[in-house]
Amino acid sequence: MAPATLASRTMLSRPRLFSTTTARCRQAKLPAALEERVSNALAAMRAGGTFKAERVITTPQSASIAVQGAAGAVVNFCANNYLGLADNAQVVARAGEYLRAWGNGLSSVRFICGTQTIHKQLEDQISAFYGGGSGERDTILYASCFDANAGVFESLLTERDAVISDALNHASIIDGVRLSKARRFRYASGSAQDLDAQLRAAHEAGCQTKLVVTDGVFSMDGAIAPLREICDVVEQHGAVLLVDDAHATGFLGPTGRGSGEYWGVMDRVHLVNSTLGKALGGASGGYTTGSPLLVSMLRNTSRPYLFSNTLAPSVVGAAAAALDLVAAAATREPLLARLWANAARFRSRMEAAGFALAGKDHAIIPVMLGDARVAARMAERMLAHGIYVIGFSYPVVPKDKARIRVQLSAAHTPAQVDAAVDAFVAVGRELGVVS
Ligand SMILES: *Cc1c(COP(=O)(O)O)cnc(C)c1O
Repeated sequence: MAPATLASRTMLSRPRLFSTTTARCRQAKLPAALEERVSNALAAMRAGGTFKAERVITTPQSASIAVQGAAGAVVNFCANNYLGLADNAQVVARAGEYLRAWGNGLSSVRFICGTQTIHKQLEDQISAFYGGGSGERDTILYASCFDANAGVFESLLTERDAVISDALNHASIIDGVRLSKARRFRYASGSAQDLDAQLRAAHEAGCQTKLVVTDGVFSMDGAIAPLREICDVVEQHGAVLLVDDAHATGFLGPTGRGSGEYWGVMDRVHLVNSTLGKALGGASGGYTTGSPLLVSMLRNTSRPYLFSNTLAPSVVGAAAAALDLVAAAATREPLLARLWANAARFRSRMEAAGFALAGKDHAIIPVMLGDARVAARMAERMLAHGIYVIGFSYPVVPKDKARIRVQLSAAHTPAQVDAAVDAFVAVGRELGVVS
């Protein structure tokens, strides 16, 4: 057969790569039952006021931002940008340097061909941040703290083991626990006494390893978990303690090491999961840090680590710069001083104005309003006053415990904090919340 003939025959038998009919952007038809159920569920959310409409920000994340639908700039009190590093010049610059030096991404998971020098460096930097001496601590990076929580329980526990979880733990912990075969126990939030009872129950059920897990800070309440009492109970039972410090890493405790440092128990916590997406630059990424033995197991068996892409170099650079800023006293101390001065200023002025506030010693300060409609209305009116806050209601918080969660940042100026208080007072009077 002549080569030309072969080529033309091959061409003819090859399936077409592109349809010749006009491309129409039409969705495939859904089965009626699914369509109906989902439409009804969404309608119920709209009717119940729980449908989430996203507000679109038209500027970088910062203390002062612009949002679609609001005239002029608004002061942002609902980001987890505790240290104001989300748009910090050094953080952004380092992200750019890493992007140019190391490329956009790895197109691989870590264990195939997705580990660069910078990933090992960031893991070591995080270990050092927690005071890990050589061989005493290791750290494993994830695409998010959600992933760290999704992987840790299944990887480390078997059906012979138990997880004892605080009743108010973050959704990602709940999901991670569901993925493991371990027996599940739940203790009343922050109660060392109930933790003790649940650990006894796990012991009586014949469970071998007992892993206790708690948020270091409960983000709806701004409450710090009582880790000293928890450590005492954990040690009495020979259990293992995992703390999720997403709302503490970088700023809680004298040098920002988190809830363990706040309570002076860093050396009694076996594992910490945390995020790079809140105080530490606000991009994305998470990690587990602690026992090298357990971290080695995670690297080999944790599914979100094994089967999801490596952290992008720019994100690694941003986190490294944020950690540098927090690790050095000269840059850390002014940031922490501003954050805690802002939190104290907001709390004392709001209390003086007659508002009921929750939480203690944290930059999350919930303004307790009770009624969901009041919380939603208040948040809406606050925006008209140039203050961006969000109302939280059932099912995110208990029924009749609706609130506006205010989050202070080192990036706020005292004048911005005062403006928030003034707006709360004006709107609070308007709605009859304060007199
Ligand atoms: C925000 C948060 C997470 C998720 O962190 P990401 O890195 O954004 O996935 C996990 N746990 C707690 C307690 C959090 O507050």
